[in-house]
Amino acid sequence: MTNTDFIPVSQPFIDDSAKALVMDCLDSGWISSQGAYVTQFENDFAAYIGAEFAISVTSGTAALHLALIAIGIGPGDEVIVPDLTFAATANAVLLCGAKPVLCAIDEDTWTLDVQDCQQLVTSNTKAIIPVHLYGNPADMKAITHLAGEHGITVIEDCAESLGASVDDQYTGTMGEMGCFSFFANKLLSTGEGGMVTTNDAELAKKLRILRDHGMAPGKKYWHDLAGLNYRMTNIQAAIGVSQLALLDEFTRLRGEQERLYRQHLEGVFGIVFKSVLNGATSVNWLMSIRVDAENKSAESLRTWLAEHQVDSRPFFFPLHEQPPYRDERSALKATKTLSDSGLSLPTFIGLSNEQITRICELIKRYMGQEA
Ligand SMILES: *Cc1c(COP(=O)(O)O)cnc(C)c1O
Repeated sequence: MTNTDFIPVSQPFIDDSAKALVMDCLDSGWISSQGAYVTQFENDFAAYIGAEFAISVTSGTAALHLALIAIGIGPGDEVIVPDLTFAATANAVLLCGAKPVLCAIDEDTWTLDVQDCQQLVTSNTKAIIPVHLYGNPADMKAITHLAGEHGITVIEDCAESLGASVDDQYTGTMGEMGCFSFFANKLLSTGEGGMVTTNDAELAKKLRILRDHGMAPGKKYWHDLAGLNYRMTNIQAAIGVSQLALLDEFTRLRGEQERLYRQHLEGVFGIVFKSVLNGATSVNWLMSIRVDAENKSAESLRTWLAEHQVDSRPFFFPLHEQPPYRDERSALKATKTLSDSGLSLPTFIGLSNEQITRICELIKRYMGQEA
């Protein structure tokens, strides 16, 4: 490997086991959502994370949308979402006709600031969607306690946190529902895809009906509810089955990558890592850092890395600055500082120790500390 080899920020890992299962779908003709891998993937997934039910859908966005529809979120309702997240979290709320209420971000964990969350609860608050950003669990003990006091539903956005846990409980099992994404750059990928998990049998039944046009089970073309077509295909599920069997190893390898990044960068002045709450275990979805030093910025570090064939990603823009979600509340101002200073570094199965060393040496050079 030469020094000029391009390193992407992320790339999916598809092995021969996935190809074999996909070929089985193609050869057998089971290519729609009616096929054995869909049920197998749902059962395997539920068993893996320790939830009673798992309902597969077409994307993480579909998972969030379906979860909100299942609890009847609509006009007049408020749903608390973090100011720093991928916009799908808030879009799902808006597209139900409800109001996403933006919550400030804890500057250490980069997840929901529970004190601010507390202040935002009104009689119209129907749900809270904590996002376990960059694989770091939000403060679920405090959030579920707050929600319990007010009779509010908790929907966990686990798109970036499959395999992360709090007190040995996986994310996606602590709220009423958990929503997962299997987009190509996520911890487990089916190309596009998603999952809703729950321990509530009634909710699970409703989610399955809503995912399939709202059609009554056992009565073809009869609709008690208006639903959508959010069904995952057997082909996607086949890839999911093969990926889930490898997930523990994926998680371990990503953890190793984080350890190596930290080993190289922990002492570097101006590089800041997120902190993980007591009792919580994060997963390394994308190795993310903050650049906090005079005359240095995440943006110029990103340019510097790009000049040296290393791809990276800026953090999400604060939602409160963007047209559909605009909010002038002063508690949200700090999100901009966090967002501006953040950068995600290459993290994927197949990234080598040598590549991580090369990336870290570049960062040290940029920060003014020769490797
Ligand atoms: C990726 C992501 C989503 C959306 O998932 P898709 O499968 O791309 O629809 C939602 N929330 C967060 C936090 C995400 O990172």
